[in-house]
Amino acid sequence: MTTNTPLIELTAWMRGRLAERVARLIDAGHDPHTGPDLIITPLGTTGEPGTRADRSCDRCGRFVSQGCILYMITVQAAPRVLCVGGLCGACRRLEDGWQA
Ligand SMILES: [Zn+2]
Repeated sequence: MTTNTPLIELTAWMRGRLAERVARLIDAGHDPHTGPDLIITPLGTTGEPGTRADRSCDRCGRFVSQGCILYMITVQAAPRVLCVGGLCGACRRLEDGWQA
């Protein structure tokens, strides 16, 4: 059986961030729960590809230099909402298991 449901509980930070993203979509007039299309939204701030903001952790803000891994993540925030972002190694370990 395949599932996108996390196997462990999300951290309070992640739950708060996802709720914030869903609230922003609702404020902008989107329905995050019903409809035919998937809404993809950033987990954190976005930056132009290759910029410092583009390679910074969405949780702690730490810059992850070239040669180090910025873990790309996707988390389903609501039935129609997928949040996409990047975490440094330390923050990924805090969230470890949610993407299993
Ligand atoms: Zn981090």
